[in-house]
Amino acid sequence: MAELNATHDPARRAWLDIANQPGCDFPIQNLPHGVFRRAGQSARGGVAIGDRILDMQAAVAAGLFAGAPAEAARAAAEPSLNRLMAMGNGAAAALRARLSDLLRAEGPEATRIAAMADRLLVPMTEAEMLLPAEIGAFTDFLTSLYHTERGGRQRNPENPLPPAFRHLPVAYNSRASSVRMSGEAVRRPNGQWQRPDGSVQFGPSEAQDFELEVGFFVGPGNPIGEPIPISAAPDHIWGFCLVNDWSARDIQRWESVPLGPFLSKSLSTSISPWIVTAEAMAPFRAPAPARLPGDPAPLPHLTGVRDQAEGGFDITLEAFLLTPRMRETGAGPARITSTNFLHMYWTFGQMLTHHASNGCNLRPGDLIASGTTSGPTDASRACLSEITRGRDPLTLPNGETRLWLQDGDEVILRGRAERTGHVAIGLGECRGRIDPAPAWPA
Ligand code: CA
Repeated sequence: MAELNATHDPARRAWLDIANQPGCDFPIQNLPHGVFRRAGQSARGGVAIGDRILDMQAAVAAGLFAGAPAEAARAAAEPSLNRLMAMGNGAAAALRARLSDLLRAEGPEATRIAAMADRLLVPMTEAEMLLPAEIGAFTDFLTSLYHTERGGRQRNPENPLPPAFRHLPVAYNSRASSVRMSGEAVRRPNGQWQRPDGSVQFGPSEAQDFELEVGFFVGPGNPIGEPIPISAAPDHIWGFCLVNDWSARDIQRWESVPLGPFLSKSLSTSISPWIVTAEAMAPFRAPAPARLPGDPAPLPHLTGVRDQAEGGFDITLEAFLLTPRMRETGAGPARITSTNFLHMYWTFGQMLTHHASNGCNLRPGDLIASGTTSGPTDASRACLSEITRGRDPLTLPNGETRLWLQDGDEVILRGRAERTGHVAIGLGECRGRIDPAPAWPA
C-alpha cells in the first residue's frame, strides 16, 4: 500500500500558480492520469495539473525522463493507459516522483521546465478527454448497506437486505463496451417493462435514473485460476474515478428477476476523465467501515490487517442536477446528493479479492465500481430511486420537480478528498446529459 512521501508534502507547490489555489482539484499532490486529444493531434496520455494537461508525449519527446520512470512515462503517453496500469503501482510511483519534481516550484529544474510550458502544457479547455483505457470488463458492486436497504424495503419491508449482503460484496458483470467518457450525451433507452395494471409494454423508459459511484481501474491483475489474497489487493488497485451507472428503473424491475440487471444498466455508464492514482489517495485512507452490532465478521479470506486498518477512503461525493430550464435561465446546477465513501460496507480490497476468489482473471484496465454510495441520511441518498421512490417528487430550487430524469437533464458528479494536514485533491467531474430516446426503426 502506498506510503506517504515527498509527493504528498503539503508544503510542495507547483510553478503553475493556478494549481496552488484552494479548491483546485488538481494540485501537485494529485497528478492524475488521463487520455486526451487536441484538435489536429493524435490521442495521447496526459497528467492534470491545475487547469492544464501535461502532454506526456511532449514531455517524453523533450527528454525529461531517464532511468526507472522513463518506461512508465512512455506508457503514460500512449492513447490508452492499459500498459501503464499493467506495470503496477511501483512504476506509477516512480513516475509520480519525477512528475512532482518537474512541476514543483523550487524543484531542481523548475526554471528550465517552466520555460518550456508552452510546449508541455495544454489548456484543459482545448482538449477533448477520451476513455483512459481499453476497458475489457466492467463489474459493478452493490456495497452500500443504506442503498441496498432502501431499495430492498420497497420489495420486502421486513427483510430488506439480501441474505449474502453482510457476508460478501454483491456484484454483477456489467457491460464494458458502453462505458462512456464524461460529457458524452446518454440516450434514454427503449425497453420493456410492466405497468402497475399488469400490461407489458416497450418504449422509452419512464424511470431513467443515475447512480453516484466510485470506480477503480485494475493494475497488473491475475492469471486465470490464481486468486488474489487480500494482503496483495492494493497492488492491483491502480487508480480511481467517478462512475455514473445510469439505470432505467422500470426496465430494471421487470428484467432483473432472476438473473439481475441487463438492458437497464448497459445503455451507458459514464466515468470521469482523470484517474487518481492509489498513491495520490494515500493520505485519505480510513479504517474499513465498522460492522454494526450483531453483524457477522467477514470471513478470513476477506479480512486483512491492513485492509481493516486503512482499506476505506474519506471522499466527499456530490451529485448535481442541471435541467434545461435552469440552463436557459443561467441558474447553476442544484446539489441533490452529498455523501461520503466512508459509508460503504465493503472495501475496494475486499471487492477485488472476492472478485478473483474463484480464480476469475482481472486484467489491466478492467473497471470495477463500488455501487451507489448512499449514506444513512436523507441528504446522502445517491440516486433518484432512493430520493423519490418513484412517488415523492424532488423539488429543485427553481420550483421544478422530478420523479426521474427528463430529456435534457444533466447529472454532474463531483468527488473530493480532504483531510487536515494534507492538501485536498479532487476526482474532478463526471457529466452526462439525457438525450431523447431514438424513434424505434420502422
Ligand atoms: Ca450501480
